Amino acid sequence: MEKEQFPRLLAPLDLGFTTLKNRVIMGSMHTGLEDEERLDRLAAYFAERARGQVGLIVTGGFAPNREGAVAPSAGAMLDSGDAARHRVVTGAVHAEGGKIAMQILHAGRYAAHPQAVAPSPLRAPISPITPRKLGSDEVDRHIANFVTSAVLAREAGYDGVEIMGSEGYFINQFLTANTNQRTDKWGGDYSARMRLPVEIVSRTRQAVGPDFIIIYRLSMIDLVPGGSDWQEVVMLARAVEAAGATIINTGIGWHEARIPTIATSVPRAAFAWLTKKMKGEVGIPLVASNRINTPTVAEEVLAEGCADLVSMARPMLADPEFVKKAATGRSNEINVCIGCNQACLDHIFSNRVASCLVNPRACHETDIVLKPAIEARRIAVIGAGPAGVSAAVTLAERGHEVHLFDAADQIGGQLNMAKVIPGKEEFFEMLGYFERRIQQTGVRLHLGEKVTAKQLVDRNFEEVVIATGVKPREPNIPGQNHPKVLSYIDVLHDRRPVGKSVAIIGAGGIGFDVAEYLVEPAQREAPTVAQWRKVWGVGDPELARGGVEGVRPAPDAPFRKVWLFQRSTEKAGSRLGKSTGWIHRAALKMKDVSAIEGVNYEQIDDRGLLVSFGPERLEPTWFDVDNIVLCTGQEPVRDLVEPLKAAGLKAHVIGGADVAAELDAKRAISQATRLAAMI
Ligand code: FAD
Ligand code: NAP
Ligand code: SF4
Repeated sequence: MEKEQFPRLLAPLDLGFTTLKNRVIMGSMHTGLEDEERLDRLAAYFAERARGQVGLIVTGGFAPNREGAVAPSAGAMLDSGDAARHRVVTGAVHAEGGKIAMQILHAGRYAAHPQAVAPSPLRAPISPITPRKLGSDEVDRHIANFVTSAVLAREAGYDGVEIMGSEGYFINQFLTANTNQRTDKWGGDYSARMRLPVEIVSRTRQAVGPDFIIIYRLSMIDLVPGGSDWQEVVMLARAVEAAGATIINTGIGWHEARIPTIATSVPRAAFAWLTKKMKGEVGIPLVASNRINTPTVAEEVLAEGCADLVSMARPMLADPEFVKKAATGRSNEINVCIGCNQACLDHIFSNRVASCLVNPRACHETDIVLKPAIEARRIAVIGAGPAGVSAAVTLAERGHEVHLFDAADQIGGQLNMAKVIPGKEEFFEMLGYFERRIQQTGVRLHLGEKVTAKQLVDRNFEEVVIATGVKPREPNIPGQNHPKVLSYIDVLHDRRPVGKSVAIIGAGGIGFDVAEYLVEPAQREAPTVAQWRKVWGVGDPELARGGVEGVRPAPDAPFRKVWLFQRSTEKAGSRLGKSTGWIHRAALKMKDVSAIEGVNYEQIDDRGLLVSFGPERLEPTWFDVDNIVLCTGQEPVRDLVEPLKAAGLKAHVIGGADVAAELDAKRAISQATRLAAMI
């Protein structure tokens, strides 16, 4: 039955010398665990994914030499000692019947250290470091380092390597004339510029022999001005095949590209058309990638002839059993990656070990261990937002009798507002997953019940988890009770009518989301891939070099005029997520949203909103708006805490009820899961 549902996805792939059990590749993703001296945690993380039956795992990148390491302490594969350290990883994956390839990543000018090298001494726009230009002989040495790393990977027990040739790293930097201005044999026309990757692949093949997987990750669309055109991309693919690659994987966009490639607002499988375009140009298997997050989408990609395999990286963080569930008729139980980047990329960008918003055990397999409860207890969880649901299902899974209460008539708490924001539709998946987990784990759900401390005492609960979340902060602006004033809850939850010109007070995460909501019509469908490409100006590299040259973003006109205000003088949105903040800022700019920083809120009345500027309250200015929406932060709802304490009932406080400042669903779920693992 399962094979009928996902026949292509679950079909094995015979590579001649080895067979992959299905068409799912766990794509390379840096987690931070690669950089640890002992690789036991990395081994445990991959072993869970191998047990979950993924066809082939690709590790995060390991550098072939110190100059090429993304950061000074980043993981590298340099000598036999490194190979020996990696045996714990390959051994753990093989013990689960899995296969694993090691990615070799040379960062080139993206390296965050002064030893960075590149074909030419040109600084990347996203780096403060100007790289040193490599001498001709040195290029040879760097190729040799790739080869040595691959040989060592084989010695370490890997089933193959992936040569990272995309995302704007070292190899990409040789490929385009913008970043390669050399006049020796490594620069010049395209055939000279592609000499480096072709030599890397052919010399690696010679060194590792025929029965070792070599994946080449090829940038199908650079998304930067001066990027490769399609003819060059095809030329490289053919040369890489001839040089001995086993599989070509798809890379999308350089890191410095100003077009989102994996954020949640990118439609699912938005770039599969590029891999499809490559079909027929080469004979070796092709892998599609980017925003493929369910077995249904993956199956469609294969059914439409876009690729032979699909790569999913973040979805494997979200659910290690992704493939196993798809293969056993339980695809509706998959914990779907919502593309938020909050716990994966944002952690990596801030030097923290990656994890996953929807699965805090990701990369923490050895420290969040869910064991059956020593003694089953009767526990009430109050509040069915992300904190409460996560606590309830984990407690129930461990054998406790759990009653989950919410005053609302649906679970999800504030996520029910997040899901209506344009580009955040994936939150529906999360809520659906929560619902199924509640049913599966036997949590007794009580909706529409606002509970009091007395009720909890009377109903003989042994412990209570308070997950009552947050309420909007009152900003105390003169005139804030005027009928023009709405809260974000009025707008997003109660769908109160909003006029054509709006001032949003507060430019935090919710202020930005409300702005994105208001610039679109209420009954808006999520954009198709074609519409989304038009908005961001993603062209066909056959017609536009890099997929961008001469292509202009073409968003629709805003549905409302929106002003976004904040008191602090820092750039609005500067505290949003590292990997997604720029996307939100760019999206609002395209919709002519005016961000105004450094204001004092003086008055609200029939005339609209009066603000002044700076400590001296200069330039008082009226904004004649139809509505003012308050997004001024939140405060904890803790009314149950003291009465329960007084009644002597053991209570734990989690999520927004615990700390409202800088609260997000990631923290709420992580805190809840960690608590519930221990009771
Ligand atoms: P809540 O979600 O507030 O849930 C608390 C629940 O408790 C509510 O359902 C309430 O009805 C219930 N309750 C309260 N008192 C009682 C009582 N006495 N009896 C019974 N039930 C009670 N976070 C992210 O990580 N990423 C995002 O992209 C994101 N986007 C957002 C967009 C918007 C528009 C909003 C509003 C929030 C967004 N958030 C996002 C924040 C995220 O939703 C919150 O951080 C998270 O929901 C907090 O979880 P919680 O479980 O602590 O509280
Ligand atoms: P927030 O990020 O703390 O922003 C609150 C905003 O209100 C700030 O711009 C603040 O700016 C302003 N403010 C605070 N007190 C005020 C007052 N007394 N008067 C006037 N303005 C005031 O909170 P939020 O936007 O409510 O978001 C809540 C949480 O949800 C956040 O922690 C966020 O992480 C999470 N969230 C995340 C996402 C996401 O995409 N990851 C999206 C939405 C929400 P000034 O003080 O400068 O005026
Ligand atoms: Fe996906 Fe968000 Fe988890 Fe990253 S943190 S894997 S984007 S759900």
